[in-house]
Amino acid sequence: MPKWRSIPRRVGLWLRDMYFARWGRYQVIEDEDLPDDAIPGKLYLVGEDGRYWIAAMRCPCGCSTLLEMNLLPDSEPVWALRVIDATPTLQPSVWRKDGCRAHFLLRNGRIVWC
Ligand SMILES: [Zn+2]
Repeated sequence: MPKWRSIPRRVGLWLRDMYFARWGRYQVIEDEDLPDDAIPGKLYLVGEDGRYWIAAMRCPCGCSTLLEMNLLPDSEPVWALRVIDATPTLQPSVWRKDGCRAHFLLRNGRIVWC
């Protein structure tokens, strides 16, 4: 696909990222693998049989980076995940030390900027 045709799509994704970063509520979606093309507003849970090892989402700042949070307690850093009615809470905060340096909490499906 020519590059120019993907620009409207990228803008659409960016607008949805902006929406979820402010007003939307993230919902979990289970997957066997990390998504090639993550959807805004979704926290992907990668694992098997209700046991997840990675949570992944598009960075809510709009930079479209796929953020990956480790959920396995035997490696660091590790996040604790709680899901109620498909709505996720992650502890502690997500803080990118490079790139966009986004720093936020995902609490009850909502982004809380730090
Ligand atoms: Zn970002």
